[in-house]
Amino acid sequence: MKYLIIGNGSAGNACANTIAAQDTTAEIILFSNEKEQPYSKIPLSKNCIHFPNLEKISFAQKNNATVVLDTVLSIDVQRKQVQTKTQRFYYDKLGIATGSTPCNPFHTGATYTTYADAKKFHDALSANDRIVIAGGGILGLECAVSFAKYGCCVTVIEKSDSILNQCSSAYTSLLLIQKLIKMGIRILVRTEIKDITSTYIFCSRHEKIRYDHFLVTVGNTPNIQLAFGQLNTRKGIVVNEKMQTSAPDVYAFGDCAEYSGDVCGLQYTAIQQGKIAGLCMCGAEAVYSPSITPIALQSNDFCFGSIGKVTESSYAALNKITGVYQEIFTNQQNICVGGIWLGMPVKNINGLINKPVNDSIFDIFPL
Ligand SMILES: Cc1cc2nc3c(=O)[nH]c(=O)nc-3n(C[C@H](O)[C@H](O)[C@H](O)COP(=O)(O)OP(=O)(O)OC[C@H]3O[C@@H](n4cnc5c(N)ncnc54)[C@H](O)[C@@H]3O)c2cc1C
Repeated sequence: MKYLIIGNGSAGNACANTIAAQDTTAEIILFSNEKEQPYSKIPLSKNCIHFPNLEKISFAQKNNATVVLDTVLSIDVQRKQVQTKTQRFYYDKLGIATGSTPCNPFHTGATYTTYADAKKFHDALSANDRIVIAGGGILGLECAVSFAKYGCCVTVIEKSDSILNQCSSAYTSLLLIQKLIKMGIRILVRTEIKDITSTYIFCSRHEKIRYDHFLVTVGNTPNIQLAFGQLNTRKGIVVNEKMQTSAPDVYAFGDCAEYSGDVCGLQYTAIQQGKIAGLCMCGAEAVYSPSITPIALQSNDFCFGSIGKVTESSYAALNKITGVYQEIFTNQQNICVGGIWLGMPVKNINGLINKPVNDSIFDIFPL
């Protein structure tokens, strides 16, 4: 059986390893448009001072898989073939794990998605440099914390009312802003970038910021161009619980896939989906069941964490002994649907979700 997988990231590799374990005679070809061996992106934004070398963060090699360093230009689901710049390949089963591309409405500055992007940024960086980061989401803030620790002078510009507005409450964001300010990071909310010259960034509030490096972290778009005209797409490539697309023998998973209306940008989800797709591509019975994954932003002296939906009504509490501030979010039936904490890491947080909010919940999320 011949399996082609487009994309050599977390999802593509999870799929290839699963197929290799299920079908020892499988012929597996992974396509990659990055020249590096497959690696985890997670460490790239975590610790600027010790920027990770590729060997340390690379995924284990697969046994019976070949990696073709060539960009796939098109797929033909009728003829069951894939066209790269130089060759045409036929498949029995096709997996699409093309990930996502950073949005850059400014058409200038750097983005931070691949090892090559991040390395280029780090190689050009010196302590005391002035960095402006557009976007106060988790990636922008991780970079801000990391560069501030390195000694850079960092400004984060966020156009909405608050930072981390998809995974935090307004109040916790405010507490977090205080922590970031203490680290020397400047945060401008409700601020839009109006113009960018080679030395200055001009903002909506008539502010002019001098910079050495401009980093854009304002979100990602799933890479679904290969699917246009071939597969059902919305935000991502639409898949069912087996990670099957609208075409027979074609599967999609990871950041490019849309399951139940959601496109998830997290590595754990990409790996889970890749494994389910790998099993189903080999004919095994498996279904994907989304799990709720916590998100964290950590520094030496604080940890922000968030899990689940954090938009409903909440209970808030401060543990006076540990200094941990936490909020529990409930639905109308008083069932916990999400949580946020700021302070030290909170363990076993997954058990919080779907629990009725009564005294026992505080065993998981202690006050
Ligand atoms: C800096 C950074 C930090 C992150 N931190 C976290 C974190 O702390 N926790 C977390 O859960 N998630 C984190 N993420 C997100 C996580 O890395 C992604 O969710 C995960 O990598 C998605 O895996 P994927 O395989 O779907 O896509 P990717 O890992 O993006 O892999 C897709 C691959 O497909 C290749 N490709 C695309 N199109 C083609 C084509 N036409 N032909 C050939 N190859 C192609 C791409 O070049 C890429 O190598 C982070 C991401 C970044 C960038």
